[in-house]
Formats: sequence, C-alpha cells, structure tokens
Amino acid sequence: MALKDVKGIGPRVLTLLSKMGINTLEDLVTHYPFRYDVLVRGNLEDAKDEEHIIIDGRVESTPILMRFKAGLNKMNFRLVTASGIVGVSIFNRAFLKNQLLVGTGITVIGKYDKKKNIITASEIKMGILSNKAKIEPVYHLTNGLSQKQMSTFINMALLTYGKDIPDYIPNIYQEKYQFANKRISLNILHNPPSDDKLKQAMIRLKYEELFAFMFKINYLKQENKKKNSGIERKIPREKIEKFVKTLPFKLTKDQEIALDEILKDLESPYRMNRLLQGDVGSGKTILSFLAMYANALSGYQSALMAPTEILATQHFHNMKDFFKKHHLTIELLTGSTPKKEKQEIYKGLKEGSIDIVIGTHALIQEEVVYANLGLVITDEQHRFGVNQRANLENKGKKPDTLYMSATPIPRTYALTIYGDMDVSTIKMRPQGRKSIQTIVKKSTEIKDVLGLMLEELKQGHQIYVIAPLIEESENSDLTTVCQLKDQMKLAFGAHFQIDIIHGKMRSEAKELIMQEFLQKKIQILISTTVIEVGVDVPNATMMVIFDANRFGLSTLHQLRGRVGRSDLASTCILISDNDTKRLSIMESCEDGFVISEEDFKLRGHGDLFGTKQSGDMTFKIADLRQDYKILLQAKKDSEEYLKDKKSDNEKLKNELIASIQSA
Ligand code: ADP
Ligand code: MG
Repeated sequence: MALKDVKGIGPRVLTLLSKMGINTLEDLVTHYPFRYDVLVRGNLEDAKDEEHIIIDGRVESTPILMRFKAGLNKMNFRLVTASGIVGVSIFNRAFLKNQLLVGTGITVIGKYDKKKNIITASEIKMGILSNKAKIEPVYHLTNGLSQKQMSTFINMALLTYGKDIPDYIPNIYQEKYQFANKRISLNILHNPPSDDKLKQAMIRLKYEELFAFMFKINYLKQENKKKNSGIERKIPREKIEKFVKTLPFKLTKDQEIALDEILKDLESPYRMNRLLQGDVGSGKTILSFLAMYANALSGYQSALMAPTEILATQHFHNMKDFFKKHHLTIELLTGSTPKKEKQEIYKGLKEGSIDIVIGTHALIQEEVVYANLGLVITDEQHRFGVNQRANLENKGKKPDTLYMSATPIPRTYALTIYGDMDVSTIKMRPQGRKSIQTIVKKSTEIKDVLGLMLEELKQGHQIYVIAPLIEESENSDLTTVCQLKDQMKLAFGAHFQIDIIHGKMRSEAKELIMQEFLQKKIQILISTTVIEVGVDVPNATMMVIFDANRFGLSTLHQLRGRVGRSDLASTCILISDNDTKRLSIMESCEDGFVISEEDFKLRGHGDLFGTKQSGDMTFKIADLRQDYKILLQAKKDSEEYLKDKKSDNEKLKNELIASIQSA
C-alpha cells in the first residue's frame, strides 16, 4: 500500500503532501498535530463582550447569504443554544449554506459581540459538542489543504494501513511499560478521547522514537569500537610528559585527564571518535597540540581544521611557537594561502614531509591528498556541518577524530547529537584566571559605560566592542559597527586607536587588524560576532556588547570568553533595553553548562548550533526540553537490548539496523 491508495488522496493532494515532506503512509500517520485545541462549551450569559466563545446549538433560521466583490461572501443566521438565541455571521463559507438547514446541530467558534448579541464566527463545525471537553488536533498544513482534510486522510490511512506500521519497541519493553500498541497509540494521538489517554499515548510514541534513535547511536558506537577499526600506535609517553614540563603553565587536573583519554584512544586499535568540550578559555587548544605531537611521534600526519582564518592562523603561530625546539614540520593552509605555496603544501602532504597541517575548509578541498593522515581535529566543531566533518575524516584511511567545542551542550543534546562519541570535559579554568564581572546596562546609561571604558584604557588595557550589524539597513534600528566607530572616535579618538573588523572584510585585512590588536597598536576593536571563536588577546580586559538582547545566552557567553584570558580582572558590559531578566542570568552565572541549559529552555536548540547542525536533529514527537527522563530510559533500554543475544529479537534488531543504513 502506498499513499496514493488512501481513499481521497489523488494526484493533487499527493503533490501537496509531498511538499510537506509527507511521501509515505508512515510519514502521513506520524504527521503529528503540533497543537491541540480544547473545545469546551461556553455560555452566552457568562461570556464577556468581545470574548472568544465556543458554543453549540441548532440552526433556527435559514442562513441569508450576501455576496460581495472579488468572490467574498457573508452569511447570517440565528442559533438556538442552551443559554439563549444568538445571531451568527460568518464570512466566505457560502459552501456551507446547504448544510446549515434549520434544526441542524452545529458548533460555532468565534468572537461574541455582547451588545448586538452576535457571534462573528471564525469556524463552524457540524455537530454539537458532547458534554465532555473535546480535544481537537491542529496540524501543520500547506496551502490547499484544510485541517479537516488532513485529519480525514490520516484517519483513513490509519484505518487501512494501521496494522502494518512498523513498531520499533521490542516486546520486552512493550510489556514492561504496558504500552498500548502502535496503531492504538497513533489513533489516540489523532483523535484524543481524553487528556490522560493522550498523555499516555504520547509517552509511548516519544519513547519509541527515542528508543530507535538511541539504538542506532549505540549501534554505531559499538561498530566503531570493534577491534582494528582504527590505528594502533605506540606512543612514547615519556616524550609527551617531558614536553608538558616545558610549558609555561601547569596543566589543570581536567586537562590531564582529558589528555590521558585522548592518548589512550590513539594507542588503542579502535578509532577515536571523541568530543573534547570545555568552556572558552579552559585550555583545549594545547591538548590538540599535544595530541598532534603524539601522533607525529608515532609516524602519522595530523590535520587541525578551524572555522575561521583568524583562528587557524592563531593556532598555527601558537603551535610553531610551542614546538620551536622540535623537529616538526607544521604548515598553514587557508583560502588565502598563495597559489604557489599551496602547491608546495599539497606536495608535502602527499609525500609525507609535512607532519601537521593547520587550516580552514581549504583542508578538505579535493586536491588535498595525505600520505598517512592519522588524526583529524576540528576546532569549534559545531560550526562545521556534519558533511564537512565527514569529508575530512574520509581523507585518511581510518583517522582518529577529535572534535573540540566550547559550546557546552545541554545534557540531552550531548546524549543525542554526540551520543555516538566519547566525551572528555574540561570543567575547571586554568589557575589564576579571574572571573569576568558582567553588568547589564540600559542604553540611557551609556555615559557610565564610556566612563568604565576610559578607566580600562587608562590602565593600558584593550577593549572589544560588539554590535549585531555591520552597516545600517532600512528595516532595522540595531546598532552597527560603523555607527559605533564614529561614536567611539568622538569619545576616545584623541588618545586611542580605534578600528573595526567584520565578516565582510577580506581575510588579509582581518588578519592585519588582529595582529595590530594583539600588538596593542589598536586599543578599541569594534566587531560583529566574527571574533566569537577562539581569538586570544590576553591584554583585552573589557567587552561591551550593544543590543545584547539580540543574542542567545550561549553566544554571549562565547563572546565574553574573549576577555578574562589573563590574570587581569575583566569586565563584560551588556547593553540592552529589553529582555534584561534573561540577560541578568549572565551577571550571576559563569558556568557555560548552566547557561546553555537556560538558553536551551528559553530559546530551543537552534541557537546553540547554528542552522547547519540543528537541521540534522529533529524529532517528530519527542521534545528534548521536556523528555529528558524518557530519553534516559530509552538510552538504558536500547543499550541493554543491543547486548541482548536472544534470537527472537533478531528481526526487529535487523530492521533497526537496516533503517540506519538506509538513512
Ligand atoms: P579554549 O579552550 O577556549 O580553546 P585556549 O586553549 O585558547 O582555550 O586557552 C586559553 C589560554 O589559556 C591560552 O593562552 C593557553 O595557552 C592558556 N592555557 C591553557 N592551559 C592553561 C593552564 N593549565 N594554565 C594556564 N594557562 C593555560
Ligand atoms: Mg579554542
């Protein structure tokens, strides 16, 4: 059976459904309502003027139809209800006239004009309300389809196809939780008889979705851990330790643990697939250098991919600096590397004379061939799409992979989006770091802000100023980089250097500005969020963010991580006239994990990952903000199930595995 076999679904509807991504019967029956409306009978006496009312009764007079220009029309009739007679008018439903015969029971939904005793209806449903509240599903639609049609198609499909819908919950759990079967649950979801039943059915379907998802993740993880899926190395640990002793600082305990986890992965015969997460400034970069050093010592090449040229260049210089006494060949490859140099680097990578290459997307161009790529690291990995990650990984036979992210992820997301990875977490900050004092200010308090800035500048420190836009645009009154440049010049231009940097500038220009800022030739750097990731200028001790309410908390947290990078006290000023309650979380909290949880609750996950990745991760019914408990249970069960060797489970197991391979 296919979609087109459902009664009522012809070529036209088929096209409309397909536009909504509904291509199979399973898609259709799992096109879940995005909302439910509860229809409870109102009454005329209690209803206030202009109030929205739901009321049922019988048609008392034959509707009078008026037609206007452009095909518009209006109908008026009287309705007898339990609480009296009321006039009803409704626009553009001429087609209902023949059904609205005197005596017909109907339900009217609309706005009540108490003085005139008229309801202007937005909707008329055939039939009267039952005495219990009626829960009505509301679906996402596309132009040309009505709620009623959608509901009819879904129910028709359930009726004919219901028993063939795959059910991904194994019997043992079906019984353990006394779940209703899939068809019944779907039926309840689309035609809820009561709140309680609806809740139960939802839990069941959410569990199923999360179970199938976690099973796949666990399966992938298990496959990855199979012996000899990766490179087995001997790592001269004493050399690593010796090098660590030469660092200008002592590794934190968390860094040490993470390093050990990474080195163990490199030594093991299975492929590393690890996420290294830690707040901005927690010291992830040095660990990536150490991992690449270890990899080079065991005879393999490494690639470190950063999302921006600024960041790649910074990593490159830092690493060269750290390893200047070692015989490591390290190269930088970005979009703006001159052609001739590029060719040389390609050659060196192919021949194996280059140990380590640091760069941007340029690392995954087709021309880049590696002699023996053994380790791939991506920095701020959430900025890369999954495909880009995969591209780089495919460059080596089975390179170990390490992802670094400063975006602390809410627990639920860590389990799903990174569920197939091992995770190392750096929670503590390097010693001596002062916390960043954060203050929310209104735009009327700009004088105070300028005063604070001046004090900072007088001490020889530098300041970042952030605006949401580069240039003015017609349909926005947000602060822009260009505006701020003028204002800052007016305030500080006589004594201090001020410059701007933003995403539309050529990368050489950006690079130059960053270098000048680092060399303290510029005191105030005005920017969009391009400086969000990675950049390290220890002498910058203040950040001022205009229109701060425009940003998610996680983004703000990332941004302010640019300051507080030395033992100097640092300040972050958030300027905003709205949303100050949300922003005040930033004043009291410095833990990126807590902030990300808050952000997640307030704004959902779109903000955390940028569109690239959030698109990979949509559940049809589960909502990770609410369903954490179900997720944990499903995770536990699916792990147990994967290990379970009983043969009567094989069929479903294989189906689940097959669905991974086809995805
Ligand atoms: P992130 O985790 O945001 O990538 P970085 O790796 O850029 O952070 O580290 C920020 C700064 O802290 C760098 O200058 C780095 O050299 C320094 N650093 C790293 N680890 C330590 C440590 N254990 N003690 C002191 N400073 C450290
Ligand atoms: Mg970093």
